[in-house]
Amino acid sequence: MTCGGRSKVIDRETWINRFYKEKFPKFYCSKCHRGRLIPKDGFEAHEPEYSSRVHGEDWHDFEMVLLRIGGLLKCSDSECGELASYYGVGEVFRYEDFSDEDGYRWEQLYEIKSIYPSPAIIAIPSETPSTVANALLASFNSFWIDYGLCANAIRRSLEYLLDHFDVPRESNKGKRLIFVQRIETLEVANPDSHSFVDAMRIFLNEGSHQNLDSPTLLFDAFEALEIYLDDTFGKRKERFEELKANLKNMSNN
Ligand SMILES: [Zn+2]
Repeated sequence: MTCGGRSKVIDRETWINRFYKEKFPKFYCSKCHRGRLIPKDGFEAHEPEYSSRVHGEDWHDFEMVLLRIGGLLKCSDSECGELASYYGVGEVFRYEDFSDEDGYRWEQLYEIKSIYPSPAIIAIPSETPSTVANALLASFNSFWIDYGLCANAIRRSLEYLLDHFDVPRESNKGKRLIFVQRIETLEVANPDSHSFVDAMRIFLNEGSHQNLDSPTLLFDAFEALEIYLDDTFGKRKERFEELKANLKNMSNN
């Protein structure tokens, strides 16, 4: 299966920054990973009536304006043409601008709240077990809604990873093993995976129980996961050996 692609390093700013109307963030398509998602029917902000109705009031300030955005995004790759729906919000800000006679200007700034299907946050090699990959695809979708939910989906992907390594979910006596106990069994058999999953466990335990206000650590976790998946399931090492062999053969000719 083809799943998350493209990221080698997460484009963190595109994921979290607010943007001006003419600078709609260009996410890569979640289907083909080649094209970018572009608003299909242009981009227009709408103001709810309860907000627009009070513009004329003397107490009104444009910084009170609320804007809503939404619609379909279309993949720019003509062979793909995936459609994703998005929604978001906007606000109006006053900036000092001495080139203007009032000394300021108003700018609208927008923020995307969700895209479905979500763009991939990291690349998932196609050889990754499908259970692991599907949990990660769910983590991309839940990233928009709640960072804690997203962390839970990542944790689920790691439980599936342990399944892939034949780590039992129950003890010999049929008692359910908790995550930390399952990880311990990897320590001797697979020390590389053990040290990675254990580091993730510490972060994810915190992430599940506390409000993750900022996505910085989540992005760190995703980036580490991308490197781990690439090393474990990707074919870069094989390809590297193949390329070296090609180069060597070339010099023999
Ligand atoms: Zn596409």
